[in-house]
Amino acid sequence: MHDLVAELYPICRSITGNGVRQTLGILERHIPVATFEVPSGTSVYDWTVPKEWNIRDAYVKSSRGERVIDFHECNLHVLNYSTPVRAKLTLEELRPHLFSAPEHPAWIPYRTSYYKEAWGFCLSQDQLSRLDEDEYEVCIDSELTDGHLTYGECFLPGETADEILVSCHVCHPSLCNDNLSGISVAVFLAKELLTRERRYSYRFLFIPGTIGAIAWLARNEAAAARIRHGLVLTCVGDAGGFHYKKSRRGDAEIDRAVAHVLRHQNDPYEIQEFSPYGYDERQFCSPGFDLPVGCLMRSVWGQFPQYHTSADDLSFVLPAALAASLHTCLDVVDVLEHNRTYRNTNPYCEPALGRRGLYRTTGGPGIGDENLARLWVLNLADGRHTLLDIADRAGMNFMLIHRVASELTEHGLLQDAAARGAPVS
Ligand SMILES: [Zn+2]
Repeated sequence: MHDLVAELYPICRSITGNGVRQTLGILERHIPVATFEVPSGTSVYDWTVPKEWNIRDAYVKSSRGERVIDFHECNLHVLNYSTPVRAKLTLEELRPHLFSAPEHPAWIPYRTSYYKEAWGFCLSQDQLSRLDEDEYEVCIDSELTDGHLTYGECFLPGETADEILVSCHVCHPSLCNDNLSGISVAVFLAKELLTRERRYSYRFLFIPGTIGAIAWLARNEAAAARIRHGLVLTCVGDAGGFHYKKSRRGDAEIDRAVAHVLRHQNDPYEIQEFSPYGYDERQFCSPGFDLPVGCLMRSVWGQFPQYHTSADDLSFVLPAALAASLHTCLDVVDVLEHNRTYRNTNPYCEPALGRRGLYRTTGGPGIGDENLARLWVLNLADGRHTLLDIADRAGMNFMLIHRVASELTEHGLLQDAAARGAPVS
């Protein structure tokens, strides 16, 4: 996963343009990705797909011919979506177009101007303070033309048409945690799911932030209606603990599944309530859709100093953190895939488990987790409690509850409640 982050890192991405296409091309070597192109000017709800931006070169040269700011050194040096410019300017004339982050003098900030035509350069405060009075040659060799917005989809069909959505943004240039980490974890999650039997169908979206999500929703209302659970993945590669931002609904199965998985890991984590700011959960959770989509992060965007700066680099994203994020996603998938509702076929008093070899005692104190899990499942399998309800109420790991439920089903002590329809009254 870290190698994939490293491979994607140098590419200059934006909300449109060849950087996204090149990125999707690399993802396609790992998983099947269908690429979609939405023409500039297309209306998508209240928005319009913007012109396509591409850039070849950009620099500020001193009168001695030295590139004092060079796009080829780091693509963050250009205000993303800068209009083309060629000019000779004094330092004073250039200054309003320069952006730095004085609080971290060695770092280059990441700035964009998607919806207002502007040009500019981003540079470290150290670099800025070294600029002398001079006549500078300024060049941004970019173009903003009628083209397309590009996004990618990886669809993995399952037993049912009900879908699990995994979405991440692909519009950031050389920034790793936000959000090459999300892309990489999503790709490896899809890769793993390709090898598994799937009850749900899975749709992975690799979309430019905001406008990409809006464009996808506008073109895919039917698919959106099939989304039963969803996760936006972002900032999942740093050393911080997990943060999960709940869906707008707040009590959706995805919210409970993620909370359950995090609670049963031994690491610090935090559950955050929904707010209408953040990543593309904002669009998926807009009131017209109100989809059960939450956002999984490690460190929270905007709250780590490296956020949107050149310090969000390859060293800020750790292989072990990426791996733990992937495992967390797989645990969440396991809960969603296996969360069913059962009915105890023998609800009058406890069934005789010992006779069936299902009440194994080791002679020590207590009855052990397995036996206790069987008792919880038999007690709460009344057609109204899901396995996740049971696991949470018992304070036990979902996979243990799932395992004993499967075993009890094999022994005829449980029935899938969905198969029988009405719950036991
Ligand atoms: Zn960002």
